[in-house]
Amino acid sequence: MMIRGGRRVLVFSAHAADFCSRAGGAIIRLVDAGSTVLVYDMTYGEKCESPALWARDPKPTIDEVKGIRKQEMEAAAKALGASIACFDFGDSPLVIGSERRQRVMEVFREFQPDLVLTHWKDDILHPDHVETTAAVLWASRYCFRPGIELGHPPCPAPEVVCYETTLGTAPVADFMPNLYVDITEVLEQKKEALRHLAAQPQLPENYEFLARYRGVEAQQTAWMKECVYAEAFCRIGTEAGG
Ligand SMILES: [Zn+2]
Repeated sequence: MMIRGGRRVLVFSAHAADFCSRAGGAIIRLVDAGSTVLVYDMTYGEKCESPALWARDPKPTIDEVKGIRKQEMEAAAKALGASIACFDFGDSPLVIGSERRQRVMEVFREFQPDLVLTHWKDDILHPDHVETTAAVLWASRYCFRPGIELGHPPCPAPEVVCYETTLGTAPVADFMPNLYVDITEVLEQKKEALRHLAAQPQLPENYEFLARYRGVEAQQTAWMKECVYAEAFCRIGTEAGG
């Protein structure tokens, strides 16, 4: 069971809004259950995710776009009940080399998550998403080993769960969910959080549409008969059958 109290949950997001559009409902439910959620954005999504800001006249500077996205993502995270920080690595292309991977791992060792949410590992239509999860998986498999010395000591390896690809791209990215979270009761709160991400005004409508479709899958394949809206995930790892 992914949703329960007492968890320490670390959520990684390549761009400003990804965490909210794909996992916002699960984050609300984790917080409501009594878990602590920290979101880390790799970038502000200043280049690829902010077309409404670049269309302004006069055209803003990149620092102005970053500043607006920072305010938006902080307001969205607050509406979900989560804390948020940003590495500001720069997007499109996002490159996370050896030194940056160690910074990601340092966040693991400092926060000590027992659950990590991140992009689908093969979200090939956006290379920034793939780059993010490659670094997150790297950190999740080295954080418990003493070989790399950082400011904090090794921590236990967390469970890693991947969230949705961009709306409409799941078949190309081979995203086959194996875990559903019922977000029916928190859909309106999620949409309220998404409205804070005003540089992407299409998000509430797009991800409500997707949640309804995932809700049907949850009814049909996960015995979630009361579920109307769901978020879909793909858990990395297998499960003990008894
Ligand atoms: Zn993104």
